[in-house]
Amino acid sequence: MRVDGGCHCGKITYEADIDPDKAGLCHCTDCQTLTSSAFSLFVPVPKENFRLRGEPRVYVKTAESGNRRAQAFCPECGTRIYASAEKDPLVFNLRLGTVRQRAALSPRVQLWCRSALPWVNGLSSVPQHAKQPK
Ligand SMILES: [Zn+2]
Ligand SMILES: [Zn+2]
Repeated sequence: MRVDGGCHCGKITYEADIDPDKAGLCHCTDCQTLTSSAFSLFVPVPKENFRLRGEPRVYVKTAESGNRRAQAFCPECGTRIYASAEKDPLVFNLRLGTVRQRAALSPRVQLWCRSALPWVNGLSSVPQHAKQPK
């Protein structure tokens, strides 16, 4: 599936060919902090299927395991674009919130459920508004 997207300010844009069946989400505590949210959403894209325009900044995160992952984000607006191996990545884990077609990419797997926030699966019972209430 061909997708495109970019950061909030438009400085970084991309096109990618992805397999929608590989979309997922991650409840690990690093993702919670890095997204400042409950979990991160991702879909992997092989290097040859990824065309990036603009120059992201990279923050290297060291996991509990010692594994180092590059976290690329827009230097202007801070939007996270992808995570990848630190050196010569063959695969980029695109951050789904930046993909224009994200509504069609429902997660097929959940990782690190051990650290999932306890309320995350009960949101359908929380009062809902179509927009910001007055
Ligand atoms: Zn930006
Ligand atoms: Zn994670």
